Amino acid sequence: MKAVLDHVGIAVKDLDAALAFYRDALGLHVEVPEEVASQRVRAHFIPTGQSALELLEATAADSAIARYVDKRGPGLHHITLRVDDIAAALAQLKAKNVRLVDEQPRPGAEGALVAFIHPSSAHGVLVELKQAADVNVRLKPEVDVRLKPDATNVRRFALGDLELISLFDGFFRLDGGAMFGVVPKPFWEKKAPADDRNRITLAMRPLLVRGVRTMLIDAGLGGKDDAKFHEIYGVDRSRNLDHTLAEAGVAPDDIDIVLASHLHFDHSGGFTYRDANGRLRPKFPRAQYVVRRGEWEDATHPNERNHASYIADNFVPLAEAGVLQLVDDDQTIMPGVRVKRTGGHCMHHQSIYIESAGKTAIFPADIVPTTAHLANPWVMGYDLYPADTVAAKQAFFKDVADKDALVFFVHDPAVAAAYIREDKGKRTYAQA
Ligand SMILES: [Zn+2]
Ligand SMILES: [Zn+2]
Repeated sequence: MKAVLDHVGIAVKDLDAALAFYRDALGLHVEVPEEVASQRVRAHFIPTGQSALELLEATAADSAIARYVDKRGPGLHHITLRVDDIAAALAQLKAKNVRLVDEQPRPGAEGALVAFIHPSSAHGVLVELKQAADVNVRLKPEVDVRLKPDATNVRRFALGDLELISLFDGFFRLDGGAMFGVVPKPFWEKKAPADDRNRITLAMRPLLVRGVRTMLIDAGLGGKDDAKFHEIYGVDRSRNLDHTLAEAGVAPDDIDIVLASHLHFDHSGGFTYRDANGRLRPKFPRAQYVVRRGEWEDATHPNERNHASYIADNFVPLAEAGVLQLVDDDQTIMPGVRVKRTGGHCMHHQSIYIESAGKTAIFPADIVPTTAHLANPWVMGYDLYPADTVAAKQAFFKDVADKDALVFFVHDPAVAAAYIREDKGKRTYAQA
């Protein structure tokens, strides 16, 4: 593999003392620090030509850096080698019996993916591998929300006693005609510009609910798909659920419940991952995965019309791992969170209602996937029962108006959540 020295990590006990040397005595420029919530560490990068120094400051007593400093005092902590494909690098090392701290890459600073190699296999040095975030991916300007990822990709909302965090698993592209069904292109292309292949850009926005338990609603596309799939669907996951979960301060094993609106690949792909041995595993190791029984039946018995939407690798491993929980009816999944079957998009598609202290938020999933789908007849061509979608939308918008609910848009390229206003039958939105 090709590897470039990216940076040298230095554990710091007293940041001011460290800055007195690196910044004031040496006269080096220290960048604005970045908080890596999952590691409970603050990283201060100091560019030094082709590579950098990284001062690591613990932000909690149980952080790995705090434990390191307690044991050995401040000083050299790790070296980081940058590789093009971290998954391939880990597989190669594993095949050579190298002892790994992380068998799976995890989010690091600056949107990168990282994994550590154990010092016992690296001649006494802690070695970090890093795959940098791809900053060269072209996006349409109107959806280039990655420029300020913290401000736009991870959005926090308080709802009574609950905290709702809108996450992000990247962009993909679908045929604009299929996204708007019977609506003629001159109408929809004003709201959703098409590329040269007639595709429009959509986001994947899973929603995290923190209450008595931590729940993830849908999980985006995940990272199992190949280059051909990415080409067809214009996938850009250079910033994805791994990054946004880490920015939200949530580790995969913090999640207690994963709830599916339905099992189409753009909602369930992130439920599973392939480990270094190629085995499919649940992505959230402690979670119970809650799926509507009818949807499970349809997904595991697809027909010619819907088989392209259901990819067994996304959900069959859940049953094999014993973490699948099927529910039959509209019911409460955890305090404050209940499901309501809508049908329409597929027979057992469900919306998620989140309620606390008299306030309501709704995740309508693919019944109203973007802010361009507010009008009743603007229904996806993908929907199996479009007349049922129209009826479900009428009921949904009545609930929204009655409760002045906050609405989450699972696929909107720019708007994660909004309040809806209705005037003489015309709906508009105000971004939340
Ligand atoms: Zn769907
Ligand atoms: Zn969808």
